[in-house]
Amino acid sequence: MSSVGIRVEGVEFSYPARRVLRGVTLDAGKGDLVGVLGPNGSGKTTLLRAISGFLRPQHGCVYIEESDISGLRPREIAQRVSVVGQSSTFEFPFSVNEYVLFGREPHVGPFQAYSARDRELAREAMEWTGVLEMAGRPVTELSGGEQRRVLIARALAQQPKVLLLDEPTQGLDINYQVQVMALLRSLAREKQVAVVAVLHDINLASSYCDRVVLMSQGTIWAAGSPAAAITSENLSAVYGSQITVSFETGRPFVWPVAPTLAASHGAGMPQVFLVGGGGTAQRLLETLVLARLRVVAGVLNVGDADWLLCRSLGIETVDEEPFSPVSSARVEEAKHHARRSCALMLTQVPFGPGNLRNLEIMDDALASGKPVAVMGEEDFGSRDYADGRAKQALDRAVALGAERLIDEAQAVDFLRRCVEWAKKSSS
Ligand code: ADP
Repeated sequence: MSSVGIRVEGVEFSYPARRVLRGVTLDAGKGDLVGVLGPNGSGKTTLLRAISGFLRPQHGCVYIEESDISGLRPREIAQRVSVVGQSSTFEFPFSVNEYVLFGREPHVGPFQAYSARDRELAREAMEWTGVLEMAGRPVTELSGGEQRRVLIARALAQQPKVLLLDEPTQGLDINYQVQVMALLRSLAREKQVAVVAVLHDINLASSYCDRVVLMSQGTIWAAGSPAAAITSENLSAVYGSQITVSFETGRPFVWPVAPTLAASHGAGMPQVFLVGGGGTAQRLLETLVLARLRVVAGVLNVGDADWLLCRSLGIETVDEEPFSPVSSARVEEAKHHARRSCALMLTQVPFGPGNLRNLEIMDDALASGKPVAVMGEEDFGSRDYADGRAKQALDRAVALGAERLIDEAQAVDFLRRCVEWAKKSSS
């Protein structure tokens, strides 16, 4: 059980002509990543400002650890709370190292220079966020994703108990969004910080947050685990339109359109061919849909867990009869789809005599120069139930250039490269 980092009790806040927060109560434990969701204008930024002490609520209290922040001086708050605001941008070309050192300001006395300890903490923060190698470069010359990591490094150097972020993934491509969210989650857990982030992407929140808070018109409409709070009912009520949430993948996932339209949603988008089966495709399907890519999956036996998932999401499949071995005709059909795709990806599906022929689709894609990726890092022997033939084919594929991907972040990176490559070769 995590100890309390933030406790907000009955907070009411009004701007001169506008009541914005209405009796907001929530808490965030140290080690928790809490996502704050809700439509524009629902009060998310105002709530962060109240927690950071920037705005003083007319009623209610905010506690950081056990201290009521209304009794703390700004410097004492800054020693406990780091804020990465929406408008945190870089106007001056400080080096990354200088900028991260600014995070030590609340801990440095007047007219004091940074100590060796301050420099060490800044160095650790840069190392931890993966920006140490760019320590000497001007912050103004970094990419959006790198800048976001520098902002987090500065916040980390501050050694906060609480980290507040306003839309930390805004404007980043999916690859960097996933990187930033993974960084925030490990920061919360490993440094035992209460991290509260306003997020726009419900699926990112569902994937990475321990808890979510759904705001509506200055109140908390729902709060709890993603599974408890991110429901069709709650989202539809708060966002005012019918929103479909699927739990097929074990946690709530919002489809951009009604599931039956998911396939056409991807029309005109680069297509990825997916070889899966037996429920191994769930995570990868989420990643592909998050990346807004069109997917065709196969060859799948009718009734298989992945077939059911694709069916419920409206994703096109190449189908084989239930419990029957994959036939030549279906393999040829699948090859046709794979040739029209920008990449082919294989899940960690085991191969036996029934589905071994699906590896011919991979061979064909490799022979025609398509990028191919295989998920999982374990030896291929562990998923071979075909007398070594699957292992042999997969080892050969890797020798011919198929990439091995360990997690979703690597899958996203692979897809990004494939889409860029496809764009270049069609222009
Ligand atoms: P969100 O972050 O959910 O988009 P905000 O907290 O930014 O919502 O804003 C909540 C409401 O408060 C909005 O109606 C907004 O127009 C209003 N508001 C925000 N900042 C100010 C301000 N400085 N003065 C007056 N009203 C404001």
